[in-house]
Amino acid sequence: MARRKKIYEGKAKTLFEGPEPGTIVQYFKDDATAFNAEKQDVIEGKGVLNNMLSEYFMQGLTQIGVPNHFIRRINMREQLVRACEIVPLEVIVRNFAAGSMAQRLGIEEGTQLPRPVVEYCLKDDKLGDPLVSEEHIAAFGWASQQDMDDILSLALRVNDFLSGVMFGVGIKLVDFKIEVGRVYEGDFMRLIVADEISPDSCRLWDMETGEKLDKDVFRRDLGSLTDAYSEVARRLGVMPKGATPMKPTLIN
Ligand code: UDP
Repeated sequence: MARRKKIYEGKAKTLFEGPEPGTIVQYFKDDATAFNAEKQDVIEGKGVLNNMLSEYFMQGLTQIGVPNHFIRRINMREQLVRACEIVPLEVIVRNFAAGSMAQRLGIEEGTQLPRPVVEYCLKDDKLGDPLVSEEHIAAFGWASQQDMDDILSLALRVNDFLSGVMFGVGIKLVDFKIEVGRVYEGDFMRLIVADEISPDSCRLWDMETGEKLDKDVFRRDLGSLTDAYSEVARRLGVMPKGATPMKPTLIN
């Protein structure tokens, strides 16, 4: 196959030009980074797991009518997605206090929030993705008021879907981050869920034991990240019991 043109290389994924106009190939790498890339490692098999898990979540969203960029999985590490113009915001939804919110507001990790709380961070690695308010977003033109209404509604629908799916397999969805992108259809612009949904961008705790099954395992040196992600994939039936991401032939 002809070598594809690289469009962008991020921390965990590389984007290549897709086979048709308006498409992109997302390649999931094994690289793990945390604390704005101050901590880095290569975790064998992580890319395969995130590719499969993101496919699973995006397909579920499609089935319940939440628009997203996923078209189809190409192979163990790559998926074809719709090209879109990424809105420069990280959209975070929290059901329980953890991470930066727990620290910032002095709330004990794991405290249930009175309702889902949506936060926005500016996507800017140099600045460390600072938290921004809707005032900032409107004043600097990162998104319009109509966009913000649509983004909030997308974020809350993803939250309800993901919380339910995770609840079904004994996992508490503590928080997660999504990114949204603009697509143009004739004269209309629409916002869709983009990037990825995987344990790299969620906090997932076992409901019984509280065990962490997400990137905090890497951030806080709590054990094997591949084991944690494999457990999520196994419970969701994304990966058959006994299969490991290092033995791709076992994964259907
Ligand atoms: N998150 C992410 N990418 C980021 C920042 C946060 O995917 O650049 C996710 C993170 O995994 C968690 C949620 O967003 O599920 C909330 O993260 P938080 O603000 O607590 O930041 P952290 O403590 O991870 O630095």
